[in-house]
Amino acid sequence: MARYTGPVCRMCRREGTKLYLKGERCLTDKCPVARRGTVPGQHGAAQSRKQKEYWMQLREKQKAKRYYGVLEKQFATYFEIADKKEGQTGENLLCLLERRFDNIVYRMGLAESRKEARQLVTHGHFTINGKKANIPSIIIKQGDVIALASSSRDSEKFKSLLELMETKTAPKWLEVDKANASAKAIALPSREDVDFPFEEHLIVELYSK
Ligand code: SF4
Repeated sequence: MARYTGPVCRMCRREGTKLYLKGERCLTDKCPVARRGTVPGQHGAAQSRKQKEYWMQLREKQKAKRYYGVLEKQFATYFEIADKKEGQTGENLLCLLERRFDNIVYRMGLAESRKEARQLVTHGHFTINGKKANIPSIIIKQGDVIALASSSRDSEKFKSLLELMETKTAPKWLEVDKANASAKAIALPSREDVDFPFEEHLIVELYSK
């Protein structure tokens, strides 16, 4: 499975914003974006309006890709699916990304970052509707139950993550059962459930060219 393996903080600096890819560290003053600001050189003063528009659209797409840890081809596939659905394509796209298995593990509070969630899923620590599942890109449906596998509960890793889970608040579309380290998708996420200020219309404009 292809994935980005370069320095994580560089992605935030590139996008000029915190993408919260490193869990708790992102909330401290060790965060390079907070400390040093963004990458120099993205002035664009000499760019034409058209170039600037394209640049902003591209950056917004990169931001979303990096936030959810999705590679180019897969992101384009999500866009195609979102475009075929009823409603606004940009909203559909973000809601689809929210429904990824790894994102839900993160949103349940059982991982410090989406990157960690993806790794934990790949290592087979979770089940969907009682069956082991290890593909982070699975799109969760309404009614699905995601749970920590019983064989993983007593590991040192999950002892601390279960403590972390106690401190987190899940989005309202997930009904979390902290005692059983599980969550049921009681609804599908809506745009308000996406807790990052994406300007998704820019992504739609980019793909509509
Ligand atoms: Fe991004 Fe977190 Fe690194 Fe800050 S610490 S640059 S928010 S990944």
